[in-house]
Amino acid sequence: MNDIRIGNGYDVHALGPGLPLMLGGVRVESPVGCIAHSDGDVAIHALCDALLGALALGDIGKHFPDTSDEFKGIDSKILLQRTMSLVKGKGYGVCNVDITIAMQRPKLAPYITEMRETLARIMGTDISRVSVKFLPVPQIS
Ligand code: MG
Repeated sequence: MNDIRIGNGYDVHALGPGLPLMLGGVRVESPVGCIAHSDGDVAIHALCDALLGALALGDIGKHFPDTSDEFKGIDSKILLQRTMSLVKGKGYGVCNVDITIAMQRPKLAPYITEMRETLARIMGTDISRVSVKFLPVPQIS
């Protein structure tokens, strides 16, 4: 049976000064970064949730709980690797992913290609199957 699954992931983090900002596996220059138990890579977290959701395997919090010291400060690329192991273990692979990162600043255009390359490499797929988009959010004054 050809079984095609589609998943949806979403993540939001608060920002704090002086923290590294990791997005799509790439360090983004910013005076603020995500406050999180892991490295706070919201793009990878949402991607993991989409992959897990497509296979009804629960969510990222189930597999990588933020109450566990094992995942404290963990590189989210490792979480994606582990998620892909679960996906492959179920006999599935990734056809394509489409990610939108919404934020006020900085603009992410200089980082998009590296994010796509990084995520494609971890998922074992071609960059042409990995879309990362930047949605600039208006600042509310
Ligand atoms: Mg998260």
